Amino acid sequence: MSLKVVKFGGSSLADAAQMKKAADIIRADADRRYVVPSAPGKRFSGDTKVTDLLYRCYDLAEKGENFSAVLEEIHARYNEIISGLGMDFSIDEEIREIEMNFRKRFGPDYAASRGEYLNGKVLAAYLGFPFVDAAEVIFFGEDGALNQEKTAEALRQALKDKEYAVIPGFYGCGADGYVRTFSRGGSDVTGSIVAGAVRANIYENWTDVSGFLVTDPRIVEDPAPIRTITYTELRELSYMGASVLHDEAIFPVRSAGIPINIRNTNDPSAPGTMIVPETHDEDPSPYTITGIAGRKNFIAINLHKDRMNSQIGFCRDVLDVLAENGICIEHMPSSIDSMTVIIDSAQMAGKQDAVLTQIRKRVNPDDLYVEEGIALVAVVGRGMCRTRGVAARIFAAMAHARINAKMIDQGSSELNVIVGVNEEDFEQTIRCIYDIFVSSVEVSK
Ligand code: ASP
Repeated sequence: MSLKVVKFGGSSLADAAQMKKAADIIRADADRRYVVPSAPGKRFSGDTKVTDLLYRCYDLAEKGENFSAVLEEIHARYNEIISGLGMDFSIDEEIREIEMNFRKRFGPDYAASRGEYLNGKVLAAYLGFPFVDAAEVIFFGEDGALNQEKTAEALRQALKDKEYAVIPGFYGCGADGYVRTFSRGGSDVTGSIVAGAVRANIYENWTDVSGFLVTDPRIVEDPAPIRTITYTELRELSYMGASVLHDEAIFPVRSAGIPINIRNTNDPSAPGTMIVPETHDEDPSPYTITGIAGRKNFIAINLHKDRMNSQIGFCRDVLDVLAENGICIEHMPSSIDSMTVIIDSAQMAGKQDAVLTQIRKRVNPDDLYVEEGIALVAVVGRGMCRTRGVAARIFAAMAHARINAKMIDQGSSELNVIVGVNEEDFEQTIRCIYDIFVSSVEVSK
């Protein structure tokens, strides 16, 4: 028998109808044994997630203001789900306890975690599965990071005699005994931890899209889906802005060699995207590239100095200044007499003048200036290293669209090519690269 851990996101559990779809998916496959729910998300655009209501509610409690109306709104969201599912079940007791703990100032993490806690209770009752409180099986250390060993051991103990269980996502127990959460979207991480601990065959992550798309649908209309992506490719694309899965969700399953399947609760027959540790390309991408992602808001610090190449330690001195100011760099293209450092603008906020003064003092450049408004676009694909002419096609497409590449960087893995462009060319760059690699290729979607 194979073992599947299934996580359902907030939009998959936003109301009774969505909850029913999730339960039907779980019941359709007896291997779907351990279920990790998020809190109810938005039911329609403009709606508020239960997690956000909880933060708002606790904020009032902490200020000593009246929070009953918001707590009642939260209570009503669950009651609507419970009655919509035709259940004979009550969370009145839990709501009373939450109210008490808010008054005792149990903290915002405790508050936010109650969204998953209550949803887990409701879903467990609806499915007839045992409920396992995440605060008893997920542990954080003194430094706030996950205590992996203690967590894996506790999960294995708690689940060893349970064929099925619901374990709420997003939170666990801090070193001080109080509830702690992961960062937002953290139920993905819980699902991954559970899957890793029980050595699942697969971690299914059910959301409201049919997996990853080759690029951002806000930029390219109806982009092709990605069928298979490696963990490494996914890291590259997520870092550059593609988001479906929490960044931290990769690690617990990656080390155990467990694939993640991103699936759509509203279209359960779609295969979604398989995220795999490695592929021998049983299912190669039909497009050579796997995905295109990008981000705006970078700046370039440009330095020029004659005979820079023969001045020992020049680059190191520049980088030292940045490091001393706690600034992380993205790329560093250079030539014989010049170097450029590309940095996320947020990193430089409030520090720019001081940093430039220190660089001037340290390396005495002939010229030093900052360019703002740079966007980076990453073209990622495991197939790129085997194919000749990828870079040529990228730059031909850009030249044809009259876009100037300000920077080019290809990682030594040949897994990605990154181009820097002016922000106003960002969308067009993505579109023209998509067109040349994807639109021009005939495949059945
Ligand atoms: N409910 C939490 C959030 O809104 C965690 C999650 O959904 O994964 O961020």
